[in-house]
Amino acid sequence: MKNFNFKSAANTKEATKLISKRATFLAGGMTLLPAIKLGLAAYSDIINIKKIKNLSGIKVSSKSLKIGSTTTHSEVSASKEVGKSIPSLAILAEGIGDPQVRNRGTIGGSIANNDPAADYPAACLALNAIIHTSKRKIPADKFFKGMFETDLKKGELIETVEFEVPEKSAYAKFPNPASRYAVVGVYVAKLKKEVRVAVTGAASYVFRSKELESVLTKNFSSSAINDIIISSDGFNSDIHASAEYRAHIVKVMAKKALSSC
Ligand SMILES: Cc1cc2nc3c(=O)[nH]c(=O)nc-3n(C[C@H](O)[C@H](O)[C@H](O)COP(=O)(O)OP(=O)(O)OC[C@H]3O[C@@H](n4cnc5c(N)ncnc54)[C@H](O)[C@@H]3O)c2cc1C
Repeated sequence: MKNFNFKSAANTKEATKLISKRATFLAGGMTLLPAIKLGLAAYSDIINIKKIKNLSGIKVSSKSLKIGSTTTHSEVSASKEVGKSIPSLAILAEGIGDPQVRNRGTIGGSIANNDPAADYPAACLALNAIIHTSKRKIPADKFFKGMFETDLKKGELIETVEFEVPEKSAYAKFPNPASRYAVVGVYVAKLKKEVRVAVTGAASYVFRSKELESVLTKNFSSSAINDIIISSDGFNSDIHASAEYRAHIVKVMAKKALSSC
């Protein structure tokens, strides 16, 4: 259905009230609009959340970095606060799509969509993020549930994404040359209490590599993973890369990320 009611919400309460069974939120529209145009999704009501002022912006403290859900990828990549506290996150945002996508696409839209090849889900898992919604706070470990599937309930709005400020971190992506989506992307982070490694693009949805984490917890360096062989079990095999190739690239990207920490 390409005919729908278009409504703009002035605040979070209004946005969640406007949601009915066949309604959805619109942020940057970079995924939602092509899906509607291609007939992959249909809604009776589209609720624009871009006019809700307190959903956009960046706040930093010594322990965490909070990014409002409608903050665009361009705003994250250009932010001095992000560049200072978590430079790897600014680099990740700069590597998303093309300028048009970065100027419209938002962090909230990206993680709500949970594309298996998207970049931000890897940042959320590696940086132990907490997703603040209109109803609750969801740890990243519980947020990403499957391919294009999250823990969000119907009408639940992402308000802010809160990242832990790491001691060291880096993201390395092997991009699809056309879309810039990750064929494989690896985010490594040395946090105060633990080491986390998140992998996107390789499987049906983002995951933490326990194998890499256990080695890097003892020695957070590129050479520490020289002898590791990443298993391709459960990895995607498609026109872009075989599962075995993706497994190889996970190690290459992990080493690249670790070398730049
Ligand atoms: C050509 C192209 C190239 C791209 N390349 C990359 C890439 O390299 N890496 C990458 O990671 N991504 C890439 N993307 C995706 C892009 O970065 C957007 O982040 C993504 O499309 C969704 O963000 P959006 O703000 O446009 O969301 P929308 O399209 O507006 O919404 C997407 C979904 O999220 C829901 N939603 C949006 N905001 C919220 C919220 N606050 N709370 C709850 N639900 C919400 C919507 O209801 C909808 O279901 C690319 C997209 C295109 C079109």
